[in-house]
Amino acid sequence: MPARILDGAAAGAAIRAELKPRVDALHARVGRPPGLGIVLAGHDPGSEIYVRNKLRTAGDAGIRAELIRVAAEAPVGEVLATVAALNARDDIDGILVQSPLPAGMGDDAETRVIDAIDPAKDVDGFTPVNAGLLVQNRPGLVACTPSGVIELLDRSGIEIKGARAVIIGRSDIVGKPMALLLLHRHATVTICHSRTQDLPGVARTADILVAAIGKPAFVTPDFVKPGAVVIDVGINPVSDEARVRAWFPPESPRLAAFARHGTLTVGDVHPAVAEVAGAITPVPGGVGPLTIAMLLANTVRAAEARLRT
Ligand code: NAD
Repeated sequence: MPARILDGAAAGAAIRAELKPRVDALHARVGRPPGLGIVLAGHDPGSEIYVRNKLRTAGDAGIRAELIRVAAEAPVGEVLATVAALNARDDIDGILVQSPLPAGMGDDAETRVIDAIDPAKDVDGFTPVNAGLLVQNRPGLVACTPSGVIELLDRSGIEIKGARAVIIGRSDIVGKPMALLLLHRHATVTICHSRTQDLPGVARTADILVAAIGKPAFVTPDFVKPGAVVIDVGINPVSDEARVRAWFPPESPRLAAFARHGTLTVGDVHPAVAEVAGAITPVPGGVGPLTIAMLLANTVRAAEARLRT
């Protein structure tokens, strides 16, 4: 039986609708909407799309989002100065710096920029202060993608407590915070990575399997225990027609989409996993919409915390 599809677009819309009265109440109380500063350095095409989506959805939710651009060839100091200015502004409650930064800014640019963000405005949850609070299960701003996954599991009625959870990927922005959130909700958690031995065997122990790898269609049916919940975090643009044809059956609408655009966004999970899993997130329309919804939720939380009387 094909897996139940976990509809991230619907869950994201519900979260945004629930935020609206809080945004309106805050706006009425303090005379201004919550403010989100988005810093975009350079013109990475993927980043341009993400930032446009964030600006649009923030505006729809009544949040005032402001884009500050930094030239691709600027030194990292210019991003740091922009962040410092946003830290100091009273009408800005949340700050995010779109990743990746231009390579010319240096290998340590992302870390330096994250370290410069006021933790109270760190709506991506990437600063060491917020990462540390998460480790200790104390209130803070939590990374948007993994907290969105928890929202989706909860809203889909999937029990986390006592479940065996396996996360493939150990990045600071997805894999590690995902593992901590599941741990705090009483799952038994295993983190896998590129050096894990017998990855399919470990993955097959999971009741909840999260793929956050960045490799299209990497998780094949042999990774999945029948009936498991599979969360596909991957967002991978693919333009190789032969690969796309190998993944999707000839009648799949995804092939028609590829023919139209010459590229396709594919998750980390192979489409055939839907025949084995009990529930699965689609790509697109799974985890992605939740990430943006949680960014807005964090912005509202940050504003409420800063403007508490
Ligand atoms: P990353 O490159 O920082 O981390 C990837 C992780 O995968 C690493 O920890 C690595 O150990 C692991 N990995 C790599 N190759 C592996 C292998 N062969 N076997 C096992 N593990 C392996 O990536 P990230 O930032 O965590 O993002 C992962 C994916 O999620 C990407 O496709 C990214 O675009 C996507 N993403 C989606 C959202 C969303 O909103 N849906 C948000 C963030 C990231």
